Amino acid sequence: MTEAEAQLIEQAGRKLGPKGVITDPKEIEPWVTDWRGRVHGNSPAMLAPASTEEVVEIVRLAGEHRVPLVPQGGNTGMAAGATPPADGSAILLSMRRMNRIRSVSAESRLAVAEAGVVLATLHDAAHEVGMRFPLTLGARGSCTIGGLASTNAGGTQVLKFGTMRSLVAGVEAVLPDGSIHSGLGGLKKDNRGYNLDQLLIGAEGTLGVITAVALRLVPAIVARAVAWTGVDSPAKALELLRFLEARTSSIEGFELVPQDSLDLVLKHVPGTRPPLAGKHQWHALVEATTADPQADVAAELQRLLGSALEQGIIGDAVLAASEAQAEAFWKLRDTISEAERAEGPTLAHDISVPVPDMPGFILDAAAKVEAAFPGVVASGFGHLGDGNIHFHVRAGTHAAPGWYESEGEAITQLVDDLVTAAGGSISAEHGIGQLKRAEFARLAPPGRIHALRAIKQALDPLGIMNPGKLIP
Ligand SMILES: Cc1cc2nc3c(=O)[nH]c(=O)nc-3n(C[C@H](O)[C@H](O)[C@H](O)COP(=O)(O)OP(=O)(O)OC[C@H]3O[C@@H](n4cnc5c(N)ncnc54)[C@H](O)[C@@H]3O)c2cc1C
Repeated sequence: MTEAEAQLIEQAGRKLGPKGVITDPKEIEPWVTDWRGRVHGNSPAMLAPASTEEVVEIVRLAGEHRVPLVPQGGNTGMAAGATPPADGSAILLSMRRMNRIRSVSAESRLAVAEAGVVLATLHDAAHEVGMRFPLTLGARGSCTIGGLASTNAGGTQVLKFGTMRSLVAGVEAVLPDGSIHSGLGGLKKDNRGYNLDQLLIGAEGTLGVITAVALRLVPAIVARAVAWTGVDSPAKALELLRFLEARTSSIEGFELVPQDSLDLVLKHVPGTRPPLAGKHQWHALVEATTADPQADVAAELQRLLGSALEQGIIGDAVLAASEAQAEAFWKLRDTISEAERAEGPTLAHDISVPVPDMPGFILDAAAKVEAAFPGVVASGFGHLGDGNIHFHVRAGTHAAPGWYESEGEAITQLVDDLVTAAGGSISAEHGIGQLKRAEFARLAPPGRIHALRAIKQALDPLGIMNPGKLIP
């Protein structure tokens, strides 16, 4: 521990009290490795403020002593953005004690949640007033509102409601100079220049510490209908989505699943069964929802899928007959990564390309990767309607210890090159963090890198906010 770190920790202890300063390495240990267990960091202390004022104190001390901070929520991020450097040169700033829901209102359709509120807790609070926060994802029991905003997280409802960028009405944050940006007013219109709230969303903790967020709510769902469809190709799946969207506004989820992924789930995940009798090369999981008690969303979806079948857009479809069956359909989609891991090593790429180009990209990129690395298996699944899929490459016949090290980088570079050539993004949902920084530096246009660096330098000239992340 450096002298500067020791002073900061001692002074923070006086301001925050014992609950706010953790120095026991055993207590810190679970929080210095990323969710996937790939990046191991180190920190002499974990500071845990309980209020915005305490965050101000910590940020001021960090500036004074020139000791960087690494903000952290639930530590569920996929890019190791919340993992401190291995040399212990930064202090972990846990936001989990700031876990109050300051307000939730059906009338204003807003909830104001502190950064450390866990997503599932916000869901429950919204539900209690007959409303819903329409963003969910697998880590909902652990990820926090501050982390979701800082990574501009997506999930399975982006198709209808957008990412965090669309769902955040305002942000309160402590900026690197210790000043507070208060944007929680919930104003629908506010044209006072640059949008600081949006600048902080997706900033991965590099421009300040988010302390609270105003979030948009929508009326709670009263019914949902979930269907599993078999289609010939990703192009047919997209045609189905457009067909449905042209006829109803109730479509909220639309996930593409290749037969190959379904086979793996059926093989490795206990209790799963194929939803359709015949085999189809591709599948689309469709979810329609309604907040209107008079609407019969199941009948509507059944009728529309019947028309799609008649028109040859889909080969077959089945509507879940119960909530349990709906959950079983979603389980087939949600356990793909788990089934892949059971099969062998897999390289995951969270990428996006323009929606109309996605069907062609999936087939073309898979063929190119499999040709360049014979024996591997490449396929894409996920949020087709958002132009975002998980493009995964399995080791296949190459599965052997050291596969990641020997071929991983070259495969990822090829995938990222293909994505870039298609005008896409090498990080659709998970951010850049540490894990994608080198590829971001290699492939991002110079203008984007220049602007990121200039903004960072202007707001954080001392470099105390999450150094080594995001900015190439
Ligand atoms: C099972 C599983 C499923 C997932 N599914 C999805 C998905 O479908 N879509 C998706 O987009 N993501 C998904 N993720 C990724 C992850 O859940 C999200 O990125 C989430 O937003 C991270 O929240 P967190 O609180 O855990 O943040 P952390 O991991 O703690 O931090 C993430 C980043 O935000 C910064 N940060 C955290 N809190 C603050 C704050 N208060 N102020 C400033 N910076 C802060 C950190 O420094 C770091 O850079 C999934 C993760 C898991 C484990």
